Order: sequence, then structure tokens, then C-alpha cells
Amino acid sequence: MPERSQLKACMNSSCISKSSGTQQMSITIPKVSHLTFSEAVHRADIVFSFHRGTHGDGHSFDGRGGVLAHAFAPVDGRFHYDADEKWSTHPAQGSDTYDLESVALHEIGHLLGLGHSTERDAVMFSSIRPGSLKRQLYANDIRGVRALYGLRP
Ligand SMILES: [Zn+2]
Ligand SMILES: [Zn+2]
Repeated sequence: MPERSQLKACMNSSCISKSSGTQQMSITIPKVSHLTFSEAVHRADIVFSFHRGTHGDGHSFDGRGGVLAHAFAPVDGRFHYDADEKWSTHPAQGSDTYDLESVALHEIGHLLGLGHSTERDAVMFSSIRPGSLKRQLYANDIRGVRALYGLRP
């Protein structure tokens, strides 16, 4: 069981209700660094799964609203979505459904070492509204990644 301090991140709200179990998805990360992500079948660095309520890692989910997802730092790399939220891969604008990919991008930002941004449009802003997409890194996010990994602007 991971230490509490290993929990890197969670994201708050401002269903595709799935039961507990591992779901595979792939994420497209814009080319802002030399980091690459690929889908792994056996030894994945980040493993996505859906859970509801208390699910054995010491960080219970809170039902609808509130916390949407959380992730543990590598080498742990577990990434949990709150299965009580409504999720979609293509939420309609203004719907009450959250975008899986936007939340994943935010959590991966944390796993790379990024903190929260105060810019509302940034992927790394601390919350996301249902029905909104944040699949593009904002200038502020990109600056963060570049600074962390010593890349030139
Ligand atoms: Zn966050
Ligand atoms: Zn969890």
C-alpha cells in the first residue's frame, strides 16, 4: 500500500458509470518536450482504473462532484477515476459529463511534476467544469514543463 505522501494529485469538479476494474485508454500529449508516452500491455508506468468510494488505497472517493480523479507518483503510477462521476470520451458542451482525456492530461501533468496553475484556461488549473475540454496545453502549462525539464522556450 502506498504512503499517503505518494498521492500526487487530485482534481476537483466545479455517467459512464463503470464498476471497478482496469480500463485501457490512450492519451495524446502535445509535443512540448522530449517525453513520450506509449500504451503498454504489461509493464505500464501509469495504470488507469475506475473506482468508487473506499477502494483500498487510503484515499476514498466522495461520490458525485468533488474529487474527480487522483494519481500516485511513479513508480507507483496508479491513476484512479471516480466511477461515481459521469465520464465521457466526448462530452457535449454544457453537459454534466466530464472529459476523461482532459482530466488525464491534468493528472499526468502532476505526475511529471507540475503544480496547479492560477490561469483558468490552463490544463493545470485546479478544477474543470463538466462539458468542457482541456486537451491542449496552455502556454502556462508548457512553460512549466519546459522549466522542469530544462528545455529551451
Ligand atoms: Zn490537480
Ligand atoms: Zn485511488
